[in-house]
Amino acid sequence: MKILIVEDEPKIAAAIKRGLKQERFVAEVQSDGEQGLAAALGDEYDVIVLDRMLPSLGGLEVCRRIREAGIRTPIIMLTAKSQIRDRVEGLDAGADDYLIKPFSFEELLARIRALLRRPVEACDNILRVGDLTLDVTNFDVRRGKKRIKLSNTEFALLEYLMRNHGRTISKDKIIGHVWDFDSDILPNTVEAYIGSLRRKVDKPFAGRPLIHTLRGFGYKVEAEK
Ligand code: CA
Repeated sequence: MKILIVEDEPKIAAAIKRGLKQERFVAEVQSDGEQGLAAALGDEYDVIVLDRMLPSLGGLEVCRRIREAGIRTPIIMLTAKSQIRDRVEGLDAGADDYLIKPFSFEELLARIRALLRRPVEACDNILRVGDLTLDVTNFDVRRGKKRIKLSNTEFALLEYLMRNHGRTISKDKIIGHVWDFDSDILPNTVEAYIGSLRRKVDKPFAGRPLIHTLRGFGYKVEAEK
């Protein structure tokens, strides 16, 4: 899952980025409004964390323009206490949620997870495809009752595919959402990780596999219908 942080205070931005990385998110920081907007328009994110007071272009305007461009990525607006009256403005501009500074990282994380849930999914942090479950808060993956041990990267990859279950996801898209944009990842690496996921998630279990390759297109996770 890839998060864009648009925040001009380096300490806050760094703390959010560090926290998100520990939670196996890919996090990218932009420190002014114009750059934040350019990133949001030019790349695909799963959630955008947007500070209200930013140099060059304010958060409200950035939010408005993102929505005008037809991008529906969930946005959490960060608002200083003194601007608390403006929070309605933030929601009017198209933000999905707001958080008042100072906030705890846990609070931000909870809001991000809430926004990542699709309305059809249950109100918990467990993703399900067939008998495969992935609990994003407890880092717990099971098929039926049997626990599956995954590395951080395998977990992030499986989470991304499960959140998009039924959809074919290209290798490039996987690289963008599961690995940091500054890391050197080759398409072969994705294949290798898919291979190790298969060995852990599909091979030991009876029944049809859940991880599917669509040659030339990408991968998808889907239960048999
Ligand atoms: Ca600011």
